[in-house]
Amino acid sequence: MIHYNISLKPYNTFGMDVSAKEFATFSSIDELEEILNQQSAIENRKLVLGGGSNILFTKNFDGIVLKNEWKGIEFVKEDENYYYVKAFAGQVWHEFVLYCMKHNYAGVENLSLIPGTVGASPMQNIGAYGIEIKDVFYELEAYHFQDKTIKTFSQQECEFGYRESIFKKKYKDQFVIMSVTYQLRKKPVYHVSYGAIEKELEKMNVKDLSIQNISQAVINIRSGKLPDPAKVGNAGSFFKNPTINEEQFNQLKNSYPNIPNYPNRNPKPEIRNPKLWKIPAAWLIEQCGWKGYRKNNIGCNPLQPLVLVNYGNATGKEIFDLSEEIIQSVKNKFGIELEREVNIF
Ligand code: FAD
Ligand code: NAP
Repeated sequence: MIHYNISLKPYNTFGMDVSAKEFATFSSIDELEEILNQQSAIENRKLVLGGGSNILFTKNFDGIVLKNEWKGIEFVKEDENYYYVKAFAGQVWHEFVLYCMKHNYAGVENLSLIPGTVGASPMQNIGAYGIEIKDVFYELEAYHFQDKTIKTFSQQECEFGYRESIFKKKYKDQFVIMSVTYQLRKKPVYHVSYGAIEKELEKMNVKDLSIQNISQAVINIRSGKLPDPAKVGNAGSFFKNPTINEEQFNQLKNSYPNIPNYPNRNPKPEIRNPKLWKIPAAWLIEQCGWKGYRKNNIGCNPLQPLVLVNYGNATGKEIFDLSEEIIQSVKNKFGIELEREVNIF
């Protein structure tokens, strides 16, 4: 059923009080097709919404919002090394992670507590602590708005990149992701050298590694560092970590000997040569004096300045304008142009 002039405030973690001209929820292919066959849905712009945790609404949405509530997890098959598990797109991502922890399916433990839904996970190839969805992805099924057909995408066809996939580029706004099948290890491969995981495991007094205690370590770190969207509006990291070439890196290192940096791990030779270096955007933003910045209802999180926050009734335009100011100041100081990670509507 289509509803009209619905407030989207409860449906986006920034808490932006904008409205959708039309709004409908679906939890099966039949429900989705029924909505899409209505005249207004055929004519209007469509926005598929999961948990609204990677979106900034800067104005009312003049089309139809399709809120995905198609949940469920199914065991598909297993082989010598892997379990194959399918989750429907409206399933809450962290619930899926907890399901994997309970069943000893390894691979997603570093991705614990990321807000949002399964359907959005391949959209931007979600990542944390050195693991990305592409590392556990097997295939997905998506419904094409125009052709009204269901297509299966392999990992290669998704064209995953750093916080990127084909669904954000060539196929933007063309598909509804319906389900994702993940390939989860029987024998875990632990990744604990990233960020503060090792330190947190020590603090937890962990002697024997397991996917469950890595997951718990990640949950502890994230809960201490990131603002809870239920209390303070935000959409996680607002910007991507930039990569720069070796020449620019060497110049910056002369001026800022302590600049944090990571060699880019991209396996594609054309991206490896010339060498690229990842610079944490949070450091660049902090150096420009934005950490803890607050003006009325907007600001930069005091613990993680990469996260822009809505302290009250800020508008999306205010947050967007702040992001523009940050981009300019980082560009002026370091000559690096930050790119937004959050989807702007
Ligand atoms: P939404 O915000 O609802 O949608 C995001 C985009 O995907 C939109 O363009 C939407 O149209 C599209 N989309 C959603 N579902 C579908 C579908 N089924 N079919 C087609 N298109 C769809 N991200 C990380 O990568 N790593 C992190 O560690 C991380 N930490 C975060 C921490 C916090 C506190 C917050 C608030 C966010 C964080 N994020 C992180 C960002 C966010 O959680 C992820 O991008 C998440 O995958 C978004 O899921 P969602 O369901 O909320 O997507
Ligand atoms: P952090 O541990 O303080 O590290 C800062 C940055 O340095 C991270 O962004 C990370 O890049 C990079 N980094 C750290 N250790 C690295 C290593 N060993 N090798 C290569 N790069 C390394 O970061 P944080 O802010 O607390 O976040 C922790 C993880 O959660 C990060 O992976 C981050 O991406 C993820 N996260 C994402 C969001 C989001 O909304 N997208 C929000 C919160 C946290 P990468 O970002 O490339 O991993």
